[in-house]
Amino acid sequence: MTDRSGVDTGWQKLGTTLTHAGRPEAPEGGVYVNPPVERGSTVLFPSLESMGKRGLERYNHASIYGAMGSPTQHELEKLIAQIEGGTDCQIVSSGLAACTTPLLAFLKAGDHCLLADSVYGPTRRFAENMLRRFGVDISYFPPCASRAEVEDYIQPNTRIIFTESPGSHTFEVQDIPMLADVAHKNGALLFLDNTWGFGIFAPFEHGVDVSIQALTKYPSGHSDVIAGAITVANQACWRTLRDASIQLGQLAGPDDCWLTLRGLRTMGVRLAQQARTALQIATWLQERPEVAQVLHPALPDCPGHAFWKRDFTGAGSLFGVVLNSTYTQKNMERMINAMRLFGIGASWGGYESLVLPTTGGITRSFGTEQPSDPAFRLQIGLENVQDLIADLEQAFNALHHAL
Ligand SMILES: *Cc1c(COP(=O)(O)O)cnc(C)c1O
Repeated sequence: MTDRSGVDTGWQKLGTTLTHAGRPEAPEGGVYVNPPVERGSTVLFPSLESMGKRGLERYNHASIYGAMGSPTQHELEKLIAQIEGGTDCQIVSSGLAACTTPLLAFLKAGDHCLLADSVYGPTRRFAENMLRRFGVDISYFPPCASRAEVEDYIQPNTRIIFTESPGSHTFEVQDIPMLADVAHKNGALLFLDNTWGFGIFAPFEHGVDVSIQALTKYPSGHSDVIAGAITVANQACWRTLRDASIQLGQLAGPDDCWLTLRGLRTMGVRLAQQARTALQIATWLQERPEVAQVLHPALPDCPGHAFWKRDFTGAGSLFGVVLNSTYTQKNMERMINAMRLFGIGASWGGYESLVLPTTGGITRSFGTEQPSDPAFRLQIGLENVQDLIADLEQAFNALHHAL
């Protein structure tokens, strides 16, 4: 089936990479299909000379000391770099650490960092608290800003434009090649939190310099791992990032890296299925009288839909729903509490469906992007589509009772 989101084309190609990459070359004695977990701290060397030589390999995904990454982590790094299309990747302890580590690596006191108004909340808090405390100037641009508007927010000391597309909670798809061009013409780098677009948006073909992944989401895929990845466009970025990662003691445990490698092997089929169900549910929701807007990048109602169509090869399974103005936040909360198959909880990208309110408690500098009517976010899992629709239907009934 090729639906209008074109999900199948993107995921089929991805499936081949996920199956065959991320495995060492087979030596004479053979090699396991999926790299096994290797745990350790000290690596022993036959001589001081060989230890010294190995130390020079820290940019080459070599095992030197446990804190600089295990062989399991290094295989995962090679696989992520290949999927993202970058030169190198650093695995870190969480998706949030994948946002904060490159900011610390590339910024210094006196620099300016320009962030999209709809970046992941904890990234914004890190910028507001830590980066400001270290003398970095922070400001925001509206995620749907035109080229001229973005240029207006650039300062002589702008070093990084940090964005996330689609935006957190509000799903604005952004013109990444335009942002990259503005950044580069002004001597800055473009950082993209590409968690939603993993495998369906090629960051480096669109001008991104540093791409961020929360491996906690689709890649591990089973809601049992916290890990992150930072992938870079070139060697210059890599050396800066790798040095900072070592200095900050950033890594992920070998068991978590192995679970992520294991999860990745089936990500293509999980995502094709979840994306298909998500689009069916999004289309069903569009017809509901209670719904004002469905913020699914593959639907024309979503801000920046044209950029999604131009730049992505598929869609994920996370999208937003805005209720019409008849309903209050309290009504919506009653509705969410009535859902049975949709779990109430943070995160997304696992095999189970989730729901969270996205109005009340999110911070934006430009109020216009935030719907004033009650809104929520759905993550669609591997459940049967009719079962999920039936659950939403009975929850809508609770919404009416709540009026
Ligand atoms: C979840 C998420 C993160 C943070 O990942 P954690 O592993 O939970 O720290 C960062 N960015 C985006 C877009 C996310 O969805």
